[in-house]
Amino acid sequence: METIRAHSHFHAGHRQLDYEGKCAWVHGHTWRGRFTVRAERFPRIEKLDMAVDFGALKGIFKFLDHKMLISARDTLFQQPEVFDPQGVVVMPGENPSVENVALYCLNEAVDLLAKLFPGEGIDYHIEVEIQETDNNFYTMDRQVTI
Ligand SMILES: [Zn+2]
Repeated sequence: METIRAHSHFHAGHRQLDYEGKCAWVHGHTWRGRFTVRAERFPRIEKLDMAVDFGALKGIFKFLDHKMLISARDTLFQQPEVFDPQGVVVMPGENPSVENVALYCLNEAVDLLAKLFPGEGIDYHIEVEIQETDNNFYTMDRQVTI
């Protein structure tokens, strides 16, 4: 079994619509993301004899750096004349909660593996942990065959 772990952090803002409490207001965190990807044997990028590029996995987190994370229903931040669309990333689900930030990152990791090594029939176990604050962590994982 082989394991790749890649960690990075990103600074990003969000708010929780319909939340009764301070999380309803726009605020930011220094989020920390950790991917753990396992496979019996990773395919290799031929010339490089490397599996998944750590930088590519970390790039999923870095793409979120200095962005506003929103849900699709948060239309305030989707007015291009007010907010530059390059600074806004739409998360899945009803709110940009830590759960949905993790889901976004996990989906991106699946897409990355599918682009790097399409159709090789490899079973991957992908785990993402998102740390929102010093004390709040959320982890989700998925088994996929690509
Ligand atoms: Zn928050």
